[in-house]
Amino acid sequence: MCIFCKIANKEIESFVVYEDEKVMAFLDIRPLSKGHTLVIPKEHYENVLEMPSDIAKDLTNAVKIVCEKLKKLGAEGFNIITNVNKVAGQEIMHAHIHVIPRYSEEESKPISFGKPIECDLEEVHKVLKD
Ligand code: AMP
Ligand code: ZN
Repeated sequence: MCIFCKIANKEIESFVVYEDEKVMAFLDIRPLSKGHTLVIPKEHYENVLEMPSDIAKDLTNAVKIVCEKLKKLGAEGFNIITNVNKVAGQEIMHAHIHVIPRYSEEESKPISFGKPIECDLEEVHKVLKD
């Protein structure tokens, strides 16, 4: 079973931000900004292009809910990104959408998958969990 399937099954702990019957959202362990969240289908698909359209709709709805939650951290914008296949930088072969909140004190450029920031995930989770 892949690591994100294990997270969806609660066999591996994560900082859950949102969950419904089909979808789960949790904090990225190596965040690119404060509140960087991954939104996944609970069912395993290799990437977003493999998902049936009803799941794609559920995932999109969850992304919107997560963005609203991230505004609690002061987020004013978002990079919503998905990587498809290794050639595009996909490391975990279970479909996921990166929701990367952006803040006005940062440079106004699209985020790049460089160095993660130092961030206390537990503190961030406290703000987002309800
Ligand atoms: P990608 O390169 O699009 O496949 O992104 C995979 C993301 O999953 C990376 O940003 C990792 O930091 C993140 N990640 C890997 N393992 C975990 C985990 N156990 N919990 C939360 N995020 C994870
Ligand atoms: Zn999986």
